[in-house]
Amino acid sequence: MTKAALVTGATGQDGRYLVDLLRRHGYIVHAQSRRAPLPCAVDDGIRWHVGDLASGAFLEQLIAETQPDEIYNLAAVSRPIMSWQVPRENAEINAFLPQNICELVLKHKPAARIFQASSSDIFGDGFNERQNEHTHCVPKSPYGVAKLYSHRIIGAYRKQYGIHACSGILFNHESPYRPLSFVSQKIAYAAAAAASGLKDTPELDERGRPILSDGKLLLGDLGVRRDFGFAGDYAEVMHMILQHPMADDYVIGTGEDHSIQEFCELAFQTVGLDWTHYVSVDPKLIRKTDSHYTHADPGKLRSVFNWRPKVMFPELVATMVEAQVKRVREEMALQRSCSSGMKLT
Ligand code: NAP
Repeated sequence: MTKAALVTGATGQDGRYLVDLLRRHGYIVHAQSRRAPLPCAVDDGIRWHVGDLASGAFLEQLIAETQPDEIYNLAAVSRPIMSWQVPRENAEINAFLPQNICELVLKHKPAARIFQASSSDIFGDGFNERQNEHTHCVPKSPYGVAKLYSHRIIGAYRKQYGIHACSGILFNHESPYRPLSFVSQKIAYAAAAAASGLKDTPELDERGRPILSDGKLLLGDLGVRRDFGFAGDYAEVMHMILQHPMADDYVIGTGEDHSIQEFCELAFQTVGLDWTHYVSVDPKLIRKTDSHYTHADPGKLRSVFNWRPKVMFPELVATMVEAQVKRVREEMALQRSCSSGMKLT
């Protein structure tokens, strides 16, 4: 029988990989977003549901009408730094939405399986220890606190009501779909722009300055170390976790950590440049409440599913930079054709 899946936050990085994977597995995919999908995301097998998950009426209708066999809750205020700027929205979506989903599953489809996108930010700082399902949680941002609430609530509902609800504690994962507001994509974009000879990029950072400004990319703490994986691999894991007969929580990470400096070195190396000529540290960008060290211990995922990531750090960085090289070239070609069009008129 054809299975139906509901993916919230389906326009995001992970949503794009997951929706594609579920389509390939023959699911009817119900994809949720707050905005109309781009024409390229519309295909016959995807049913888009446009609405706000903070609205109880919309959420109830979504679950009652779609009757999903599997729910992947990916929607989130997904940047920890943003969670300080929109604290109420962060609490509503990152903390309470998963609980509301559990309640509605109990009411409308108790057999539905739920995957909750939890985060390594629930741990706070790693203090040089690898993090697994038993690591003590001391989150430092509203994002981490809200994700810890939803993480625990998924476990509580599983225990109390016996629903098939799982949390994947996701460590950083990146891809060409990562928004430019994330440091990994900023570095990839800046390397691509520098390789194309740009000194000032059309794309701006949060402070409204070109990401590459006067030939320099400004970053915070280059010593921050993260466990960087590939989003496509993690979408596969989300699906795999829900196929297991026993619901459980899993750390999802590569088991390797790399610094932001290493990301810069590799990114600029991919386009034949020396990163030290292009990257500068701006102390104002150093964040007090970000984790300085995340390093997954994915031992449980390995032993239960025999899982290994397919894409490791060097390939991940190169793929992201190559995608940005294409983007910058297209932007420059468009700019050239616009200015030649203007000259003609
Ligand atoms: P993403 O690209 O930012 O996508 C998240 C989606 O959530 C957005 O496309 C947006 O969709 C929706 N959204 C944002 N704010 C919302 C709000 N206030 N109300 C409802 N929906 C909202 O994030 P991602 O990288 O795909 O991450 C997927 C999930 O994994 C998130 O829950 C994230 O917290 C978690 N996670 C990700 C990472 C990572 O490294 N990527 C690490 C740990 C955990 P619309 O604007 O279309 O509604």
